[in-house]
Amino acid sequence: MGNQEIQEKVKVTFFSTQVYDKQFFTACNQGFGFELEYYDTHLGPHIAGIVQQSQAVCVFVNDKLDARVVKTLARNGVKIIALRCAGFNNVDLAACKELGIKVCRVPAYSPEAVAEHAVAMIMTLNRKTHKAYNRVREQNFSLNGLLGFDLHGKTIGVLGTGNIGQAFCKIMLGFGCKVMAFDLIADKRLEAIGVTYHPLTDIFSQADVISLHCPLNEQTKHIINADSIQMMKKGVMLINTSRGGLLDTAAAIQGLKSAQIGYLGIDVYEQEEKLFFKDLSGDIIQDDQIQRLMSFPNVLVTAHQAFFTAEALQQIAFTTLSNIAALANGQPVVNKAAILV
Ligand code: NAD
Repeated sequence: MGNQEIQEKVKVTFFSTQVYDKQFFTACNQGFGFELEYYDTHLGPHIAGIVQQSQAVCVFVNDKLDARVVKTLARNGVKIIALRCAGFNNVDLAACKELGIKVCRVPAYSPEAVAEHAVAMIMTLNRKTHKAYNRVREQNFSLNGLLGFDLHGKTIGVLGTGNIGQAFCKIMLGFGCKVMAFDLIADKRLEAIGVTYHPLTDIFSQADVISLHCPLNEQTKHIINADSIQMMKKGVMLINTSRGGLLDTAAAIQGLKSAQIGYLGIDVYEQEEKLFFKDLSGDIIQDDQIQRLMSFPNVLVTAHQAFFTAEALQQIAFTTLSNIAALANGQPVVNKAAILV
């Protein structure tokens, strides 16, 4: 039981921990036996020094692991950074490599969870069930203002057809939509079931609904900007469940004001780290852009909840702890895509 001995010694320090993280990780850890230490706060330069005698830190989407933070962690003996999410735009991978820190993530966990949330956003914005719910509770049975459109026969533009994009395409094909996609690599299995690949500009000009499923990187930052919005059909529906930085928020606000954008659904937001995953109901929000966005009747904001299903949380906990166990024991990680450095 050499592996067991090593695992028992490994301490993992968690940041940005929510009640549900503790619940799912503590339960899953019964099969691993790590020492788990939980902090609610984000990881950043202000707090990195708190990590002591931990071989691993476990972080989420809004923890900031820039070179400064990574250096502090390395100095204090951290050997593994385990992201409990798929995206990794918040970690300086070059700094980790230089300092010999291994970085792993959860490359796929219920992609359907995110794809289904994107569809929920489309359906809510289109059929206005959020308004109908409140209206009927106040005994207002009028339909005025609730007019939607058939999704059947509409053109859906999908940017990024990886795990989540694929799941999303399949659902939209099931609705009877025409699905146009853009990715660096065309997926033959999707083409076989009816998805067609096109240049971005064609998607912008032809799609009735555009849903973003590509990662945030230098090529994709503000992929939706004033120019691309101008190319779109008037009244287009935009859905972003990927990363806030894909959408230029100021341009989106202008697009909404001019009615060029007819509907906007965002589960992610450029400056979300100051807001999301917190109860700020008694606070004065200083972010004017999110306040402006929330004031539009045709904008739906959810607070990075697309991943939030029981199936996904179980998978995230299991994959994260399996990744740490393999790296701590010098063993190969089952899914190679989990290893970033
Ligand atoms: P994935 O790696 O399986 O797929 C990403 C796809 O994007 C790949 O097919 C890739 O080729 C493509 N791509 C890369 N660069 C591109 C570019 N410049 N233009 C177009 N396509 C490009 O990732 P995934 O699991 O499908 O996740 C996609 C994104 O969803 C993640 O990067 C993450 O940011 C986001 N996400 C959000 C949530 C949430 O709760 N809202 C949860 C999980 C993931």
